[in-house]
Amino acid sequence: MRLGRIASPGGVAFVSIEGAGPDGVTPDAVAKEIAEHPFGTPTFTGRSWKLADVRLLAPILASKVICIGKNYADHIKEMGGRAPASPVIFIKPNTSIIGPDVPILRPPSSERVDYEGELAVVIGQPCRDVKAARAKDVILGYTVANDVTARDQQQIDGQWTRAKGYDTFCPLGPWIDTDFDPSDVELRTELDGEVRQRSRTSLMLHDIGAIVEWISRVMTLLPGDVILTGTPEGIGPMVAGQRVSVTVEGLGTLSNPVGERS
Ligand code: MG
Repeated sequence: MRLGRIASPGGVAFVSIEGAGPDGVTPDAVAKEIAEHPFGTPTFTGRSWKLADVRLLAPILASKVICIGKNYADHIKEMGGRAPASPVIFIKPNTSIIGPDVPILRPPSSERVDYEGELAVVIGQPCRDVKAARAKDVILGYTVANDVTARDQQQIDGQWTRAKGYDTFCPLGPWIDTDFDPSDVELRTELDGEVRQRSRTSLMLHDIGAIVEWISRVMTLLPGDVILTGTPEGIGPMVAGQRVSVTVEGLGTLSNPVGERS
């Protein structure tokens, strides 16, 4: 099932999306309204809309977004670092989340704002101390993310809260796929239609089970929490007027324009 959130004539609603292609919204796609929340077995209100007539929002408002740094060897190489023995984690504030097609706003304080295309995990139930082999049981599904980073401030600060935490720096979407197998799919980032990142999720140094185990030993995970699993080689800057699109093969494409924050 594909779960999304939409701005509909009746307000904001969780929906099940049926009939959309993996890379975008097809003309016959339909959004069926879910009563209350999408965790567990959803019940439907009976209302539905053509997907083309509503606006897709970020598919979830996470209480926290936990990110893995340095999880692809080729990206560690391009950054000049070393592979960590254990996953390096950091947090993006939930106020950085935006949905598809909402502009990423470059703050005037940064000279260089980069895209980082990533696969994202969405947690489905409260959990802690989850063993890697049981991670599947606590995962609701998967979505696409862009871990937008003020690269100059990441280097100046020595830690990443400011560089990764600006409003609009966590695009998520277009939906959560609950049946998706993320173990070996292509991850691709395009800037104005030019391919800038192309890798495979099978090249992660720490796989999703290991990541969930590691994080849930540190903090309780809540339904809707999002985990960004790291970016591969090819990161680079974006400027206002450009459009960045991240595609996870078979899952979907998350596309956002870039603007300036006044
Ligand atoms: Mg990242």
